[in-house]
Amino acid sequence: MKVLGVVNQKGGVGKTTTAVNLAAYLAAGGKKVLLLDMDPQGNATSGLGLRGAEQGLYEALGEPARAGEFTMPTSQDGLSVLPSTPDLAGAGVELADDPDALTRLLASVSGYDLVLIDAPPSLGPLTVNVLAAVDALLIPLQAEYYALEGLAGLMETVERVQGGLNPRLKVLGVVLTMFDGRTNLAQEVETMVRGHFGELVFWSVVPRNVRLSEAPSFSKPINVFAPLSSGAAAYKRLADEVMQRVEKI
Ligand code: ADP
Ligand code: MG
Repeated sequence: MKVLGVVNQKGGVGKTTTAVNLAAYLAAGGKKVLLLDMDPQGNATSGLGLRGAEQGLYEALGEPARAGEFTMPTSQDGLSVLPSTPDLAGAGVELADDPDALTRLLASVSGYDLVLIDAPPSLGPLTVNVLAAVDALLIPLQAEYYALEGLAGLMETVERVQGGLNPRLKVLGVVLTMFDGRTNLAQEVETMVRGHFGELVFWSVVPRNVRLSEAPSFSKPINVFAPLSSGAAAYKRLADEVMQRVEKI
């Protein structure tokens, strides 16, 4: 079982969209996938139609042995979700002194090929728990001028975690999201990001595609909601690239 965290402390860069649709394509490709919604806002949970869960990730952190009871199936075969519930918002306080809580939870999870974790938009205790628990990170970057701003803070935190809590932590890759190929700016940003991160940047680039923003309100991942859209094609390609890289870690 490999565990991947979708992390960037900026909000609105495509973390949840990436976590949900990548998880769906990995499951559609035959993998057993568990998506952990580590964001108290619960967008991954609601985007898959699981809003209103009474118990979820928060309770599982407290009682790892019962994680299976709180895990819910989705309409995508092979994809299950450990949902976010409102209680998770208060978990930051408890997790501040307990960076290994998520690691303990994952130690009692089995039966999956891959676990994807949708992280909240901060570098607080929830995200530190994610960094401590995962094998590798996927970092979505919005293709805009300030894409790299704030990443220094993330990279410093990653290095600190590598030096202590989780020496095996790797960066699986950086994925450009909301790319508008009609603008010179987007292309300049791509050149800049590839120049900075080199081969860490996935070849697959996620275009700005309205179908991706509509899918959550229909409680469906993009492979079900609009399989022929450009957004679907991008996440399908990204899933292939992710699998190739995951096999090497
Ligand atoms: P984060 O989880 O990083 O806060 P989201 O995945 O929630 O970011 O995306 C922020 C907003 O942008 C959401 O409304 C989402 O539907 C929309 N969005 C994300 N990716 C795309 C895309 N490629 N094309 C169009 N809209 C997108
Ligand atoms: Mg999100």
